[in-house]
Amino acid sequence: MDVAIFSTKPYDRRLLDAANATAGHRLVYHEPRLAAETALLAQGAQAVCAFVNDELDQATLGTLARLGVRLVALRSAGFNHVDLAAARALGLTVARVPAYSPHAVAEHTMAMILALNRKIHKAYNRVREGNFALDGLLGFDLHGKAVGVVGTGQIGEVVCRILLGFGCRVLASDPYPSPAVRAMGVSYVESRALFEACDIVTLHCPLTPQTHHLVDSAMLAHLKRGMMLINTSRGAVIDTQAVLRGLKDGTIGALGLDVYEEEADLFFEDLSGAFIRDDLFARLLTFPNVLITGHQAFFTHEALSAIAEVTIGNISAFAERGRALHEVSVEKIAGRAAAG
Ligand code: NAD
Repeated sequence: MDVAIFSTKPYDRRLLDAANATAGHRLVYHEPRLAAETALLAQGAQAVCAFVNDELDQATLGTLARLGVRLVALRSAGFNHVDLAAARALGLTVARVPAYSPHAVAEHTMAMILALNRKIHKAYNRVREGNFALDGLLGFDLHGKAVGVVGTGQIGEVVCRILLGFGCRVLASDPYPSPAVRAMGVSYVESRALFEACDIVTLHCPLTPQTHHLVDSAMLAHLKRGMMLINTSRGAVIDTQAVLRGLKDGTIGALGLDVYEEEADLFFEDLSGAFIRDDLFARLLTFPNVLITGHQAFFTHEALSAIAEVTIGNISAFAERGRALHEVSVEKIAGRAAAG
């Protein structure tokens, strides 16, 4: 199959080429993001391969369908950036990588919690400048603290297991509680009760209309004062303006973000020679108790290899049988909601 692959970096190309060695698809790499303006680059391809900040809206999908594209293979688990109803109407199959390494994201989440708590980001700079004072580096024992996990799917489950290993009391919220997570000793509560009780809350739910701005001004009123908030799910699960207010008034004592509502204009690019036009993002960077990484939680060798292999597997299955291995559709999403 001819495949146009968007938003690619050298590391993507290396691993996709390796995964494709026996499959033999013709992969054409494009560095730009897939959007309505760049969709014409897919000319001649029967499949496109897209990443998290590509814009798979009606306009983009319409152009792809007119070009003869039949498969959209996502190199991600999340599919909030795809208009699934439009894809269905246009006869486009959408496939994703439902699980690649929940450990990658879970371990990055722990790195953020530990770094923020023990101020590793500050200590790193201090020691390099010969400043060995401990003032301002005081942390707390994670052992015995109440930690809330919002969303106990594949990633949230691993986070729960790691937190229990640290001796934390773990609370969770999820419309579909997991028996396996419950069996570990995690208690499920409503999300508001979780925010009221927890010293740390970490978000692992997908971005949906129900989770959009889950942490907003109204929820701020229910946070335990000085709590730590971690978001490695999707930027718009938190209302960043509201969270900024929470940081200013001390409601939020520490914030770890791997994702940001407007990250598409920033992340995955080297902008060190430019300046940041996003005032909200720039303001967040001024806080010593805010740690931001640029959507790198998934970025381990194991996860990238798995993404490449499952993506090529999806394309091969579609080429051979007209069905990808891991299809995502409006019907499937609705079916899951009904089943729950
Ligand atoms: P998953 O589908 O296995 O689990 C998501 C869980 O969230 C499910 O159990 C679901 O029932 C639950 N959920 C849905 N709505 C909820 C709500 N309103 N409140 C609480 N829970 C809710 O997905 P996963 O593989 O664990 O990934 C979770 C999310 O992490 C993805 O959707 C994606 O947005 C994000 N992610 C980020 C990175 C990164 O690099 N930062 C990498 C992979 C995934």
